[in-house]
Amino acid sequence: MGMTLCETCGDRVVRGVCQNKDCGKGGQIIPPSVHHLGVSILNYYNYSAAKGVLHPTRHMAIERAYRGVFISQPNAPNYEYLRNLGSAASVERANALVRILAGLISKSGGAHASDANLIRLEDINYIREKYNATDNLR
Ligand SMILES: [Zn+2]
Repeated sequence: MGMTLCETCGDRVVRGVCQNKDCGKGGQIIPPSVHHLGVSILNYYNYSAAKGVLHPTRHMAIERAYRGVFISQPNAPNYEYLRNLGSAASVERANALVRILAGLISKSGGAHASDANLIRLEDINYIREKYNATDNLR
């Protein structure tokens, strides 16, 4: 949908202005509710595999999660979670996004259990192709 992302922090740019108030610090501060048992980084950027959520919305969420530069401090409760996502725009990040979606599929009963899982599978393949993920998940 023609959205531009900031070269510095990966957040949205509107009319030439980065929308992240912490951009000057070099990244985005991700709230502690985003962690491995909480909101996933994809959901944080409004990813949803629900019916009716169109490709551009899902792809933009994936792009933002892929390009986001996260500021994580060792004392933050989600420090490890953010660290395990790897650096912005890396193969490690792409693999982490695949893992998140694959984890949701297995939690909800297997690859063909639902329409949502078919959408997640489609997006896993999208991430593999677009960002060259090298994960070995099936
Ligand atoms: Zn920025």
